[in-house]
Amino acid sequence: MKTHLSLPRICITATGESPGDLLECARRALQYSRFVELRLDWLPRPADALPQIQQLLAATNSPAQPRRAILQATCRRRENGGRFAGTVSEQLRLLEKAAMAGCQLLDLEIESAESAGQDAIAHLRRMAGLILSFHDFQKTPSIAPAARRLRGFPADYYKLVTTATRQSDNCAVLEFLSSATEAANGEGKWIAFCMGEAGIPSRVLALSRGSAFVYASYPPGPEEPAAPAAPGQLDWETLQSRYRAEKITTRTPLYGLLGNPVRHSIGFAIHNAAFRARGLDAIYLPLLAGDLQDFRKAAQRYPLAGFSVTIPHKEAVLRFVDRMDRITQAVGAVNTVRVRRGRWEGINTDVEGIQIPLQKALRLSAKKFLTAGFRAVIVGNGGAARAAVIALRSLRCRKIAVTGRNPAKVRRFAREMGVDSMPLANLGTERFDLLVHATPAGLWPHAEQCFLLPEQIGADTVFDLIYNPPATRLLQIARASGCRTISGLEMFLAQAARQFEFWTGQQAPARLMRRVALQELGRLRNDTTTTEAGAA
Ligand code: NAP
Repeated sequence: MKTHLSLPRICITATGESPGDLLECARRALQYSRFVELRLDWLPRPADALPQIQQLLAATNSPAQPRRAILQATCRRRENGGRFAGTVSEQLRLLEKAAMAGCQLLDLEIESAESAGQDAIAHLRRMAGLILSFHDFQKTPSIAPAARRLRGFPADYYKLVTTATRQSDNCAVLEFLSSATEAANGEGKWIAFCMGEAGIPSRVLALSRGSAFVYASYPPGPEEPAAPAAPGQLDWETLQSRYRAEKITTRTPLYGLLGNPVRHSIGFAIHNAAFRARGLDAIYLPLLAGDLQDFRKAAQRYPLAGFSVTIPHKEAVLRFVDRMDRITQAVGAVNTVRVRRGRWEGINTDVEGIQIPLQKALRLSAKKFLTAGFRAVIVGNGGAARAAVIALRSLRCRKIAVTGRNPAKVRRFAREMGVDSMPLANLGTERFDLLVHATPAGLWPHAEQCFLLPEQIGADTVFDLIYNPPATRLLQIARASGCRTISGLEMFLAQAARQFEFWTGQQAPARLMRRVALQELGRLRNDTTTTEAGAA
């Protein structure tokens, strides 16, 4: 017998390849949300789980734990992106039995509904609440025809799930949600979001646009990796705490990280924690994008209030920026954009990110500059090396040399930037006050690598721009030979603080950002033992 359901807004998907594992996952998931989806199709024999569903509900809904658990049964067929190998009638029978075992919601894909016909679906709907679902695992097709297909069958909820291959796919789905919710006078009958890493913004923003609920995976533990049941699915903790999915409204300013890839950035943890610490209603999202033209349009549709820019877009984004300062022009790359009345204002906070830790480490007060004979060598000839040249110039460093693995590229860089070029083989034969390492050699997950031999580190101070791990192999070697060292984490934190201030006009909570950065790097199982902050 069906009763009206009052649903929590985040449903945790429980998975497992045996009935015991599935139900154990569900039992633990119920500690976070009383609304859990059981992926019965993950089991070789889904029917084996049915007796345990009854036991789980009996245990969960005991007088000692009066919160009523709501279980959703899903047994998606292989043809439609699930793992169930049976026929449509076997699928319907199984869902009926799941309802009899106590599942109050049943998810059925539109393909099965169309094959079974209206009477079979009406019968199923009498057993439990019906979620009729549409999935596209490749792309985001035109939404209207998919929605029409779903509406062809009466259901309690309609679920429309596509795959984002670009940022505007998120916008299309979110706009659909907003208009469907408005048309239903605010009644949340639709669940819609995009799968895939590019689709994460839609999962975070869906509730704010009227989605009845969204799905999350079980939160990972220290020894337990996250186990998303679908591409791009976030765990409950991340969705609820980091991205505040239940608190976001249509007025919440949206920020994010534009790049490809963006997955391993610690910026999401840092900026979201900083917004929260300052009591700001704002959110910082992963914005995976390959196509900048599409991103430009998506930024208007979300609309975005600002974003960070990382590889490979720092230079390409220049042509979309409406305004930038002289430093940014000199670097030729933008890593931060603020959107004001639709116009993009770009800055490069990497320059300050290098300048501030240097000032601290070399004990230069804000007004003092480097001594006239100060000599610096930069290893690498990419964007970070350019930022290092500008930062050193702003500290009035007159003797700057650059070196790297490709002599022709090093010479071209030196000509463009007006600095000296130096063959890599000469490194170690001359003494420098400062060595700045600006290549990715030694970056996680290749933390054992080091581009330089110990005898090539002929400098009093070594600044490795890599922040993950904070204590790179290069810094360890430099420290062991008595050099003063500066970690790229100092650069990351200084540039992130500047971004925060540029976007919000408020002082960044620097101590908190450092603590969160270290926690997050630790979570990524990297070396967090030495931040070299003491160098400052
Ligand atoms: P980029 O523009 O791609 O330049 C990379 C430079 O490193 C190029 O000179 C490249 O040489 C060289 N290189 C690439 N792989 C190498 C290898 N395996 N061995 C030796 N040299 C190699 O990158 P970028 O933006 O300048 O970034 C460089 C480093 O700075 C990265 O590790 C990045 O994580 C770090 N960074 C840190 C921060 C921070 O906040 N801490 C900010 C920005 C960048 P070719 O020209 O010959 O290819």
